[in-house]
Order: sequence, then structure tokens, then C-alpha cells
Amino acid sequence: MREDTMADTSYKKAREHDQDDALIEFREEFYVNDEKIYFDGNSLGILSKRAEKTTLDALESWKQYGIDGWTEGANPWFYFSENLGVKTAPLIGALPNEVIVTGSTTVNLHQLVSTFYQPKGSKTKILADALAFPTDIYVLQSQLKLKGYDPEEHLVFVKSRDGKTFHEDDIIEKMTDNIALIVLPSVLYRSGQILPMKRLTEAAHERNIAIGFDLCHSIGVFPHHLHDWGVDFAVWCNYKYLNAGPGAVGGLYVHENQFEREPGLSGWFGSRKDKQFDMEHAMTPADDAGAYQLGTPHILSSAPLTGALELFEEAGLERLRNKSLALTGYMMELVESKLKGMGFSIANPREDDRRGGHVYLEHREAARICKALKAEGVIPDFRAPKGIRLAPVPLYNTFTEVWHVIDRLQKIMEKETYKKYENKRGVVA
Ligand SMILES: *Cc1c(COP(=O)(O)O)cnc(C)c1O
Repeated sequence: MREDTMADTSYKKAREHDQDDALIEFREEFYVNDEKIYFDGNSLGILSKRAEKTTLDALESWKQYGIDGWTEGANPWFYFSENLGVKTAPLIGALPNEVIVTGSTTVNLHQLVSTFYQPKGSKTKILADALAFPTDIYVLQSQLKLKGYDPEEHLVFVKSRDGKTFHEDDIIEKMTDNIALIVLPSVLYRSGQILPMKRLTEAAHERNIAIGFDLCHSIGVFPHHLHDWGVDFAVWCNYKYLNAGPGAVGGLYVHENQFEREPGLSGWFGSRKDKQFDMEHAMTPADDAGAYQLGTPHILSSAPLTGALELFEEAGLERLRNKSLALTGYMMELVESKLKGMGFSIANPREDDRRGGHVYLEHREAARICKALKAEGVIPDFRAPKGIRLAPVPLYNTFTEVWHVIDRLQKIMEKETYKKYENKRGVVA
């Protein structure tokens, strides 16, 4: 092998990468614990100073204005969800009024499936993927039951050939005449595979099927063009890559062509803003994505998002994506050279346009390797039965952190320190 094609695994190289990193100053915006290496931003992003500030601002409005905080103060609560929708729209390529910050992934999926799932004649089935996040499946099962259909028969799955990823042709093949609705992830939560949203949307629409995506693992990771792609709807959470805090209020998108759809679930905050306080029993829904809101917005759980989104606007999604690919690419290089022959396999797709923001390793002893990593000051993310997700996040992680994590992993394997732990998962992971 020629010298220059071999991976440079030196610490010096990691430092050089950090020196070349134009986004390194954003790390200062976060409360980074210097004792730990946090590689779990794909599950819960860490607190930024901006998010802290906008949370305190919301408390200040409450302190100063009491109920008048709904219409007064720097960020009146009555328009909070709409304003956050406008700020979120650029991240997913939506028009400002196609997005609203409300609910949670689970609740928003209930709302939009109840809105978009309109079985007719023999077109009664819902198509999902066999590797979907459990809550998405629970939602589909209960929505089918509510409309009087048996999920055993009416919820159909695309199968994975390798247990980790999908062939897009296998998905399209499943888009048969009896499918009324398709719900898929933009990025698979385990393997990190990106599904080609544009192509899948086109294929669905050619067959007269509505399609929605769960963006939990892609929002804030790479640019989307949901409006131009014609995607009917999408849902996501704001506590993963967007760093809006534990249980932060989520978001939803509905394409403007679909605004005439009556919300499956109605609540007074879905009203046209100027009509809401008329207090009439006949509802006048908003004429945009705001119509899919339910009740009073959770201001204190959406306030951190205001500050968190500022950082995305300043850093720019293209630059963040480039750094993320460089970080994960570098990590894979180190895994292949430093962890060779130790039983690890890289189970995420390798092509840049097919992989999301994390690296997915598989190992027979994954549970206890993660425990050993934690003892070494690294926060990984275990996914049963044998997955280790490692997410170096471009806003606050560095190349030297990637180097340290793989170095510690190498020592854990060489010294077999993982054997001190039980190969069982904890309560949360
Ligand atoms: C994180 C995640 C969820 C979580 O849903 P919540 O309603 O916020 O608990 C749902 N779906 C996917 C794909 C996720 O990654």
C-alpha cells in the first residue's frame, strides 16, 4: 500500500483537523463537561448558553407579565409556536407557514396519521418499515384500530434484507394499490441509513399514496427540501440534534397543498388566531400548519428551542453537514485501523449521501463495551442487542474527541476491561 493512502491515526493528525475546523468556536456556546466526551447528541443534545438564555427570558416574561405574557414581552406566547415554526422551516426546506412547533413526535404522528389516513374502498393499508422506531408503529396500530381496521392485516412492512438497511426498490415494490398511506423515517435510528425522500415521495404520489416522514434523526443533520420534494407531512423531536432539552416540544410540517385537510384531531389552538378567542363551538381552523395544533402550547418546554435554533442559523446547515461527515468519516477510518480484528463491524452505510449523523458499530459484547466506555468518561449510546451508536456532533464535538474515543475503545478491547461488566442493557438504553 502506498504511504499516502494509509490512514494517519496519530493524535497530531486529530489536532490538525481541529485547527482547520471553521466551526470550532461554536463549542464555546455549549456547556461542555470537560471530564466527559459526549457522543450521544443523537439522543439528547446538550445545553447551550443561548438555549439557557431564551428559557430564562420566558421565565422573565412570566415573572413580569403574568397572563399578559401571552401578548406582551419580547416573545409573546400566543405566537410562540408559529414563530418557532418560521425559524425551523429553513432546516427542512419548508415554507414558513408549513411548520409549527407543537406536541411531540408521537403526538404529532397521531395527529397527522389521523388526518392523512383516509381509507377508501380497497385502499386501506398503511406501509411502514420493519426497522421502525417502536412508537411510530404503536401510533399506526392504534390509528388503524380507531378507524376499525385490524393492524395485523392492514399494517404492512417493508422488510430489510440485512436487518439494518433497506433497498429503495424494495420499498417502492411495496407501494401497491391497496396502500393508502406511507410512514417512513428519513434516517433509520439504528443504522443511520438515509432513505431517499425525494424519490420515495415521487413514487408514492405516482401511485396516489400520501407519504410522511419521521425526521427525528435528520433534522439539524443535513438540509432537506420537503416542500420542493412534495412531501405531504413530517414530524420530529427537538431534543436530539437540535439541543432544545429533555422532552422539548416537537414539530410538524404539512405541505401547503394539503392545508385543506381537516385535522384528524382538533383543539382550540388549531383555530385561526383572530377567531380563537371568539369562543365559538364551531371551530374555524387556521389556514396553514397551525391548524394541526391541539391545546395551550408548552412555553417552558419550547423556549430553549429559540436559542438553540440561532446557532444553526449562524453555523449554517451545509457547513455543519460537511463537518459531521468529516467527523464520522474520520471515526470510521480510525475504527478500521485501530480496532481491526477486535470483532467490530461498521454497520451504517458508507456513502456520504446514504448516512446520517452517527456511526453505528456492531459488536457481540456491545452492552458491556458501552459500560466500559462510560467508566472511561465517554457517553455512547447502546441499542440492543448489539449496537453502539456514536454521534460526534459538529456544533460541539471535536476531532480530538473522536481520536480519544477510539483510543479508549482500543484499550478497553486490548485489556478486556469490558469483561468486568454484565452484557445487559440498563433501564434507559
Ligand atoms: C426519538 C424518536 C422518537 C421519540 O418520540 P417522542 O414522542 O419524542 O418520545 C420517535 N421516533 C423516532 C424515529 C425517534 O428517533
